[in-house]
Amino acid sequence: MELRIDGTHYPLETLGPGKRLGIWFQGCSLACPGCMSRHTWDPAAGTAGTVAELLALWRRALADGADGLTVSGGEPLQQAAALATLLAGAAHLRDEARRGGSGPADVLVYTGYEPGELPPERYRALAGADAVITGRFRIAEPTRLAWRGSANQRIVPLTPLGALRYAPHLAREPAGPRLQAAPGEDGRLRVYGVPLRGELAALERRLRQDGVALAEPSWRPGAGGRGSPRA
Ligand code: SF4
Repeated sequence: MELRIDGTHYPLETLGPGKRLGIWFQGCSLACPGCMSRHTWDPAAGTAGTVAELLALWRRALADGADGLTVSGGEPLQQAAALATLLAGAAHLRDEARRGGSGPADVLVYTGYEPGELPPERYRALAGADAVITGRFRIAEPTRLAWRGSANQRIVPLTPLGALRYAPHLAREPAGPRLQAAPGEDGRLRVYGVPLRGELAALERRLRQDGVALAEPSWRPGAGGRGSPRA
């Protein structure tokens, strides 16, 4: 099954517990003011991929001892059929690895939809997920909560593993680094994670001091560049 993605990254350490595979879907029509991932809005941008290719990455990550898979975007539920297939396959591979003696790896999905906007067909697409982080990014509601960009966003466990894995983090405000930077497959700088208010501007200043000017940061309106894939 085909889909459009913004990219993938392993090991991802700033969007969920432990060392994870990150997959970012392309396309989001929710247009949150202040979104830092504007390059993921256009559903025709990004790159074409297949669920089989993504599952091959997940299989490799599991063999490496990954703690989980994080699916974000863009808005994953706007490619619901591909998301459902990916999550079902990811849960199956995880269960297989577990039977082979691996530790439990969870599947986390970010969606900009609020819980009340998740009718049965959207919930069905999330069937393979252990937890979901819901809600639009609201720039006027900053938060220090782990893995969330605004105070309205909620971690919703969907399985016993999700409840176990995410219970310690529901009200946690981490002290450690919230951002991780690495060159992407396209050679552009990618910044992964959920920054505190002002952190992206501080990052730009620090890079400028080191002689690096960002040409089109994806958090700037009108820019089409690359930045943090998730608010
Ligand atoms: S913050 Fe997320 S849900 Fe909101 S516009 Fe950006 S990608 Fe879409």
